[in-house]
Amino acid sequence: LSKMGGRNRYQFYIASIDQQLRQRRQMETDLDNALANRELYLLYQPQIELGSNKVVGVEVLLRWQRRSGDLVSPETFIPLAEQTGAIVKIGEWVLEQTCEQLRDWLDIGWRDFRIAVNLSAVQLHHEGLESAIKRIMIAHRIPPGALELEITETSLMQDVETARKKLLALRKLGVAIAIDDFGTGHSSLAYLKRLPLDKIKIDRSFIQDMQTSNDDATIVRTIIQLSHSLQLKVLAEGVETRETEQLLVRLGCDEGQGYLYSKPVTAEALMDKYGRFGD
Ligand code: C2E
Ligand code: MG
Ligand code: MG
Ligand code: MG
Repeated sequence: LSKMGGRNRYQFYIASIDQQLRQRRQMETDLDNALANRELYLLYQPQIELGSNKVVGVEVLLRWQRRSGDLVSPETFIPLAEQTGAIVKIGEWVLEQTCEQLRDWLDIGWRDFRIAVNLSAVQLHHEGLESAIKRIMIAHRIPPGALELEITETSLMQDVETARKKLLALRKLGVAIAIDDFGTGHSSLAYLKRLPLDKIKIDRSFIQDMQTSNDDATIVRTIIQLSHSLQLKVLAEGVETRETEQLLVRLGCDEGQGYLYSKPVTAEALMDKYGRFGD
């Protein structure tokens, strides 16, 4: 009997793997068609200057709502799009949409803020990236310094020498560079110093446990000091409470982003909430 049970379990296991593969393949196909089917859209989350409370940036976050109505998390579909290569086309669409939106905001008089787009390692290493960005920036008359690219620490450290050359070329186009999810990868100081960066974003895992964990508070303090000694701005991700904000102000952190200020929202909702920036 136990043997039978075991065998059944085994068959059940195979069946579920098969089903998972099928679902995955279906999702890959659907993702390939998501752009054409208009299932992708962008949300925006403000980045706040601590102390003045001014909106100094907006991060663009991609969403995929399938025709079934299900929202798929970017944590699920971005890695999939990276594996299939679909991220190159999708990422270009994100940049195009972002710059179109940025142009609208510049036209209505929003000033002195940056719009930040996440860039995956696959995009960074794709040879068409620079020319695509250049084309998009010219088409929408994007001023230097208005567009920022967020690249995770992990993807920058995969191949530092190539990353350095790419970043230098992007900087020449007037693009600012932020290192995302900082603290979760393995940067060496020597590498950090050699990369042309503008901002360090401290991963939210450290920010969220700062109140309760002395270790995390120490890590945050150290990253802030490190950033400033490298002449970089530093932003804390995942700020959810006033207490966290106050601690960050005391530690000298420049900027914050998180649910305390706003969840990612549509462009319309962001405009309703803030009216205009730069005031
Ligand atoms: P990320 O770039 O580190 O983005 C921050 C994530 O934290 C976002 O999740 C945001 O919604 C979430 N978040 C912001 N504030 C808070 C907070 O106070 N508390 C908590 N718990 N979470 C907060 P989201 O939108 O699900 O995006 C997840 C990741 O997917 C992003 O992490 C980024 O790595 C990736 N991603 C999103 N859009 C794009 C894109 O257009 N291109 C690429 N390559 N990756 C993207
Ligand atoms: Mg980001
Ligand atoms: Mg991040
Ligand atoms: Mg992240």
